Amino acid sequence: MATINDNYLKLKAGYLFPEIARRVNAFAEANPDAKIIRLGIGDVTEPLPEACRTAMIRAVEEMGDRSGFKGYGPEQGYAWLREKIAAHDFQAWGCEVDASEIFISDGSKCDTGNILDIFGDRNTIAVTDPVYPVYVDTNVMAGHTGAVNDRGEYEGLVYLPITAENHFTAEIPTQKVDLIYLCFPNNPTGAVATRDHLQAWVDYARSHGSIIFFDAAYEAFITDSSLPHSIYEIEGARECAIEFRSFSKNAGFTGTRCALTVVPKTLTGKAADGSDVELWKLWNRRQSTKFNGVSYIVQRGAEAVYSDEGQAQVKALVNFYMDNARMIREQLTAAGLQVYGGVNAPYVWVKTPKGLSSWDFFDQLLQTVNVVGTPGAGFGAAGEGYFRISAFNSRENVEAAMQRITTSFKVA
Ligand SMILES: *Cc1c(COP(=O)(O)O)cnc(C)c1O
Repeated sequence: MATINDNYLKLKAGYLFPEIARRVNAFAEANPDAKIIRLGIGDVTEPLPEACRTAMIRAVEEMGDRSGFKGYGPEQGYAWLREKIAAHDFQAWGCEVDASEIFISDGSKCDTGNILDIFGDRNTIAVTDPVYPVYVDTNVMAGHTGAVNDRGEYEGLVYLPITAENHFTAEIPTQKVDLIYLCFPNNPTGAVATRDHLQAWVDYARSHGSIIFFDAAYEAFITDSSLPHSIYEIEGARECAIEFRSFSKNAGFTGTRCALTVVPKTLTGKAADGSDVELWKLWNRRQSTKFNGVSYIVQRGAEAVYSDEGQAQVKALVNFYMDNARMIREQLTAAGLQVYGGVNAPYVWVKTPKGLSSWDFFDQLLQTVNVVGTPGAGFGAAGEGYFRISAFNSRENVEAAMQRITTSFKVA
């Protein structure tokens, strides 16, 4: 009889989004005339930049001709794309990242999970609370945790609370942890990390031989020029950090799929015999074995992001969402709510008023103004008392939702 990976049985049932759907559907059934606006989604809404579409159409045409046809490409991605990324996203910012250290993939979600393949199963692992759930669930699946408790925390993981008190940036742990997940600009809180904060993490990681997984999926939304875009802007990061980037949020590739992971050749981890092993070699081996590369067509689409038109179009997309974020911030503040984030990130993190639980606030917002957001408690115990509003939406929806909240939302 085939047995299963029992670790999957430890996973909490997918609770957050199914529960949101259940409550919204129940309300819609009871109130068929209500025009519900969903500001809870972490997916982009605006069409693909023209430069990307044109490049992909051209790539499809090339494939229709024997001379231009492409079969399997390099598992690590095409050199022309890796070189453009190295030059534009890293070297232009003063980061020492070589094209050979960039691995093209079909998503940061996959990469942040897959990276665990090259690490041992006795590491102490730290995540922030609230957190992007993928970091936690992939560790549960890999058998790195024990059971889940009533607060939704897994035994064996180190949770670092991020709240208004610490500006949504985790305090550096006093204990030793081996792997640390950091996401800046942050999903769900919209918080950012200063250079000093990241330097403190890099110093900590280097003194403990730890590795930082730095998720920079929202890097393009940084507007404050004093903030670092890459962890490799921080001195010493090449000795302790892996960075994840994606075309999903800046270029609207959530359905097109292209991302990248940077594994510096200077990174090492300990083998069982005590020797130091290059992580780059392991990740290269892992990708070459389990992955066959991203579609040529999609990589050409991603390359177009770095053309002059592509850069202008991506900037316009980002500005569009950031205008939404600004309107959400201003209107919610005018409605008397305390808001965080939304300045360097497409998420606004709202403190629930009058000590309401995040699910009670969800229900009141749904019932009084028919607006849907995401309860903070769904991202972790320390997210209780907060609520995420996403700027990924049409202008029309954002305006209508904010209008309703400022004119008729009253906390019961
Ligand atoms: C959207 C998002 C990503 C990007 O994931 P893809 O698989 O590249 O679409 C990565 N990390 C976080 C925290 C995100 O919210």
